[in-house]
Amino acid sequence: MFFPLFWVKSQSPKKLCLRIREEVEVLHMDSLIHCKAGKFAFAFLGLPVGANMKRAKFWKPIVDKFNSKLSGWKAKNLSLAGRITLAKAVLGALSNYYLSLFKASPFSVALDRDPLSGPEAQQLDDLNNTMTCCNLSNKEDIWSWAGNRTEELNVAALRATILDSSNQHSSLWLLWNKWVTPKINIFCWRACLQRIPSKMGLNYRGIGVDNLMCSRCGLMEESVMHILWDCFFAKSVWRTIFTWVKITFPNKVSSVRKLLAKAEEMLWKKTIGAILQVAACEIWKARNEKTFNERQIHYERTMDIIKENSFLFICNRSKFCNLDWARWVDFNVRDVIV
Ligand SMILES: [Zn+2]
Repeated sequence: MFFPLFWVKSQSPKKLCLRIREEVEVLHMDSLIHCKAGKFAFAFLGLPVGANMKRAKFWKPIVDKFNSKLSGWKAKNLSLAGRITLAKAVLGALSNYYLSLFKASPFSVALDRDPLSGPEAQQLDDLNNTMTCCNLSNKEDIWSWAGNRTEELNVAALRATILDSSNQHSSLWLLWNKWVTPKINIFCWRACLQRIPSKMGLNYRGIGVDNLMCSRCGLMEESVMHILWDCFFAKSVWRTIFTWVKITFPNKVSSVRKLLAKAEEMLWKKTIGAILQVAACEIWKARNEKTFNERQIHYERTMDIIKENSFLFICNRSKFCNLDWARWVDFNVRDVIV
C-alpha cells in the first residue's frame, strides 16, 4: 500500500515522506506514527521537494536565493581577490547544492530588453541560429555523455576530458607570479582574456560609450591590445623597459598573453615576469588618469614608477631582500638574482 521515500531529521518536527495510494491511509498513519499529513510540494533545507522542476515558477526561490546572497555583499569593501574568492565559495557551493539535485532545462530565452548595440544584436542572431539547429521533440529527456573520446560515460572518460580542458587553459595559469600582488596578477589575467573595461570591451557588453577612440592618441579604437601594446604611449614604455632589462624588443606581438609570456623565455623569468606585469598595470593606470582625470602622464614618469614598484615587490615578496637600488636602476643584478 505504501513505501517510504526518505526520512529526514531537522529542528522542526520530523518528516516522514510516504507515498500513499489511499486517502484513508493518511488518517491511519497520522495516529500511528504521530506525523502531520502534508502535501507536495514542500520545501526542505531550502529545496523544493516533489515540485515539477520543468516549470519556471519552481526555480524562482532558487534564483531569489542567488540574488539575496549577492545583494548582501559589501562588495565595495572587498578587494578584487576577495570578491573572486567569495564568489567561488558562495556561488559555487550554491550551484553545486541545487543543480546537483535538479536538472536544469537545456536553454530558455527571455529578453528583458532589446539588444542595445551591434555586437549584442549579433550575439542574439548567433543564439537564434544555434537554436534553430536544435531538434526538440516531445520525448522524455534523457541524460547523455558529450565526452569527446567515447560515447560511454565512465570515470576514465571523464578524467580524460577534464585533463584535455585543463591543458587547453593551463598556459594562462603559468603567468601567476607571487612576487607581485594578487591585484596585479588578476589584472594581467583579465587583460589576457580581454576582460578589462576598454572602450571596445564596454561597447561589446552593451554599455554605451560615446567615443570609441583611444583617449591617449585618438588614432585608433581603444581595445585592450591597443591600450597595453599598440598605443604610442605603451610602445614608449615597453621600449624603455626592454632596453632597461637588456632584452631584444619584440617588433611583433599578437596578444597581451604573448607579450607577458616573453618572460618565460628568460633564465630569470620570475623577475622579468614581475616587471612586465607591473608595467602592464602602470600603463593601464596611466590610461585611466587620462580618461577620467584628463591627466597626461609622461612615459618616463610611468617608467620610474615601474622601476620603484618592481624593486619594492621583489625586495618584500621574494628571498632577494637585499637588492641594491643603484644596481637595480641599471638592472645590474644578474649575479644576485639568477
Ligand atoms: Zn592610443
